[in-house]
Parts: sequence; structure tokens; C-alpha cells
Amino acid sequence: MKVHEYQAKEILARYGVPVQRGVFATTTEEAVAAATQLHTETGTDLFVVKAQIHAGGRGKGGGVKLARSIDEVREKADAILGMMLKTPQTGPAGQKVRSVLIADAVDIDKEFYLGITLDRGNNQPVIMASTEGGVEIETVAEETPDLILKEWVDPVIGLQGFQARRLAFGLGFEGDSFKKAVKFIMALYRAYDETDCSIAEINPLTLTTDGDVLAIDAKLNIDDNALFRHKDIAELRDVHEEDPLEVQASEHHLNYVKLDGNVGCMVNGAGLAMATMDIIKLAGGEPANFLDVGGSANPTTVEAGFRIIMKDPEVKAILVNIFGGIVRCDRVAKGVAEAARKVDMSIPLIVRLQGTNAEEGKQILDESGLALETATLFQEAADKVTTALGG
Ligand code: GDP
Ligand code: MN
Repeated sequence: MKVHEYQAKEILARYGVPVQRGVFATTTEEAVAAATQLHTETGTDLFVVKAQIHAGGRGKGGGVKLARSIDEVREKADAILGMMLKTPQTGPAGQKVRSVLIADAVDIDKEFYLGITLDRGNNQPVIMASTEGGVEIETVAEETPDLILKEWVDPVIGLQGFQARRLAFGLGFEGDSFKKAVKFIMALYRAYDETDCSIAEINPLTLTTDGDVLAIDAKLNIDDNALFRHKDIAELRDVHEEDPLEVQASEHHLNYVKLDGNVGCMVNGAGLAMATMDIIKLAGGEPANFLDVGGSANPTTVEAGFRIIMKDPEVKAILVNIFGGIVRCDRVAKGVAEAARKVDMSIPLIVRLQGTNAEEGKQILDESGLALETATLFQEAADKVTTALGG
């Protein structure tokens, strides 16, 4: 689960990570009040108005603006609130901005990158740091990989001081700022570890002209499977930022990911779902989604799955591919037939059932009177998808 920048900064501050000061606002009036509050507290007359959307690259899209007075905060917040912000990480339509963070602007001496994620190859968290802050780290990784420093952390003993010092030294920190950078890295790792992050990324981490080490931006992704032990973080979920079909799917405990293709698929088991996406491609189609209905392919989940797939206007055919292991194919067939009667299915539907009671299942569907086609083999299913797509 992703959280907004302002929420990430609040979480990080609890772990002692130094973050730029800021106040959250949802209206222009609140933005003015936020700037006034910052001015009273710190005397600052320089602010940054920052669009709060889950996608990164906001600066490039015009979602991060410097303001030199409270009047300018009013003007910039008014322009940013409600805008459709397009960044390299949003869809082509952009993402609607519903709130802003008014930050106390920082005088930047240097910008760095600092990120922590799980290295699945090494089974260990990896801390990545680079002097090339502010730019996209993917570009640095591709073009100048030598400029990324890495430290792997043994999760049993945690991050060791010498590792944080090695990173801070590698980034070129000196004197007092060196100590601050080491503290920053140690605190960020603790936040990453204790809140069960899959990503904790600070880009840019800044050295201010006063020698302070501060997070100007913050991105935290929390592992969904750990949210049950972070109720306070789970409450920060912002469904406005998520694909509406994915939100609907999660309400039915369906594992659904929207893709850009034309063939909807409904499968039980993630591995079979991947293989099904492959046969759709082989058949000349493109998968419109990943949908794993899980172990219980019952009428309710199948119906919910159909409804979600049918809401995607790009879908031109649907392939259902269910393996009856514990779940029996005849029960699945009844579920598919029942759901197909309830949901208005105006496009070709191909159903492949294999495993326990597969023949009974096929018979139920063949005799259902529904305008669907059954398939037994993978190739047969692929051919029927090709035909459904018109060759
Ligand atoms: P992103 O574009 O979504 O990654 O948003 P960031 O929070 O990283 O802001 C984009 C850029 O705006 C940063 O890389 C900085 O260069 C600049 N910026 C943001 N806040 C400040 C600030 O307080 N002072 C200065 N000088 N620049 C800032
Ligand atoms: Mn950033």
C-alpha cells in the first residue's frame, strides 16, 4: 500500500528521521492558513506547494512549486488543487490533485538519493545511496551504476553503524553533517523495518546550506500482508489514488490487476494466471487483466469477477481457466453458468476446466444453453480466443 508524501513524513518523523517541516491542506484557504502557521513558527517567507498524489515525478509535471510569499502560496495552491497532474508515473490522463502539502522551503546545498528495499536475490534488505539525487534512480542505475552505493543488511542483527558510516562517507558527508547523515540512515532503516515497508525512498535527501540533513521528499510502500499489525497505517489508504476496478476487486478478496489488453481472464492460482496470460498472447491477444479468484471459485466470486472484467470497455473476449484441485470442476461450472446468466455477457466467453470432475463440468456448460464455448486443452483455448478476436 502506498501513502502520501505528507503521511510518509509523519511516519518517518516518529522514528526520528529529520524531515522538512510542512502542513497539509485540502483547500486554498487551508493552504494559506498552513503557510501563515509556518511563517509564525519559523519566520519563513519561502514555501513549497506540493501536490499530494501517489505518483512520483510531480516536480516535472508542475505539481511542485516554490512560493515567495503567502499570497503566492494562495495563487499556486489554487492552481494545483483540482488539477489533473500528469507525471511519468501517472496514466496519460493524469491524476486529480485533492490536497497539497505546504512545506517550509529549504536552501539546498546538495541533493542525494537514499532508498531501502528488499533484494529478493539476496534475501536481505538493501540500502542504496547515490550522489545523483533528485533525478530518477532508474536512469542512474542504467547509465552510471557505479554511482550507486549499496549496503545489504542482515535482518537478524539489523543495520550496523559501520555500514551507515560507510554510506555517509561514500556520499561525501563531512564533520557534523557526516554524523547527521549516519543518524538519518540508521533512523530510516528502523522505520523501514518496523513499519514493514517494501520500499522506503528519500529522493532527494538534502544537505542544507546550514549543514542539516533533511528529507525533502518521502515515499513509503507498506507490505499489504503486514497491514494487519499497522492499523494506524492501514487507515491512511486513499482509494482515490487506486484503480476503481482494483478497489472493487479487493472488496471481494479477488487478486486483480488491471492491464491494457483486450482479453479478460479469470483463473484460480497465480501461476496458472501467468500461464493463461501467456496463451492469450500466443493467441494474438493481449491480457486485459490479471485475475486470480483464489481457491474458492464459487458463484459469488465468479460473478464478482465477471462484473469487474465487463466494466473494462477494452475487453473483447473472456477466457476462464480453472484447475479443479480441491475445488471441483462441476461446482465451478455451475458457478460460471449462474454468474454468466446474471451478468450481461455480450462478448465471447471461453471456459477451460481441468482437474477433478472436469468432464462433468464441461457437460454442465455445454448443456447450459449459454452462448459460451468450452475447451479442454490449452491450445484449444488459445485457438478459440484467436477466433473470438476475429482471426
Ligand atoms: P517529485 O518530483 O514528485 O519527486 O517531488 P519532490 O518532493 O522530490 O520535489 C521535486 C524537486 O523540487 C526536488 O528534487 C527539489 O529539487 C525541488 N524542491 C522541493 N522542495 C524544495 C525546497 O524546499 N527547496 C528547494 N530549493 N527545492 C525544493
Ligand atoms: Mn522526489
